[in-house]
Amino acid sequence: MRLETHGVTKRYGAHAALDGASLATGEEARVIALLGPSGGGKSTLLRVLGSLLVPDDGHVSVDGRALPHDEEGALKERRGNGFVFQGYNLFPHLTALQNITLPLQEVHGMDEARAQERALELLHRLGLAGHENKRPSQLSGGQQQRAAIARALAPKPRLLLLDEPTSALDPVMTGEVLDVIRELAEVGQSIVLATHEISFARKVADWVVFLAAGKVQESSAAGEFFERPKTEMARGYLEGLSKYR
Ligand code: ADP
Repeated sequence: MRLETHGVTKRYGAHAALDGASLATGEEARVIALLGPSGGGKSTLLRVLGSLLVPDDGHVSVDGRALPHDEEGALKERRGNGFVFQGYNLFPHLTALQNITLPLQEVHGMDEARAQERALELLHRLGLAGHENKRPSQLSGGQQQRAAIARALAPKPRLLLLDEPTSALDPVMTGEVLDVIRELAEVGQSIVLATHEISFARKVADWVVFLAAGKVQESSAAGEFFERPKTEMARGYLEGLSKYR
């Protein structure tokens, strides 16, 4: 996929969470990682790219198609995307299976039999066979996050947007989720991932957007970003993090 943003600004009161963010990825970017210090605008940009938020200024295009700015257009656009947020996204009173079938039926208008078939296929693909009828509290954190990814994938989203998907997980569970993301990328799923986990981003991303103070400081192929960051700020960020890992 190719993502482009020009002068994207999103304000909350006097504060600009995004302050003229501009970037263009390569044509073939499949997994795009949004990196940078906390408060830099990663999560806001992720929401704008997924049409969960409409920017106050600027525009965004995905594969050359401009994202709508009107609420109705944005709502339609957002339904075509899948989201996974940090912490757990599942409805606690529903089983893993129902967490997937319910939105397919209610939001996407799929009939029950097809929704069941699709949910089972995804739960199996994400290594959750045998866990279909468990509620979130009966699953590990990694299993819950994989079920949340299954739910986001069920309607075949154009973009899968993941906001800190592993921040609540231990290293083993992080590894499980990483494997899933890698497999999805291998079969061609377009993914945008906001994360603090540099080692995770290094393993899965092919493009990196580095944000700080609401601006895109760097937008580069992942190899280039990690080997030869262009800005002092990105160098400092990578060095600072590697000191503690
Ligand atoms: P990151 O994901 O890089 O930590 P965010 O996009 O979450 O950064 O936030 C960027 C800035 O915008 C932060 O200063 C944050 O406090 C502010 N911000 C984000 N969302 C809101 C909101 N809904 N209301 C007010 N301020 C917000």
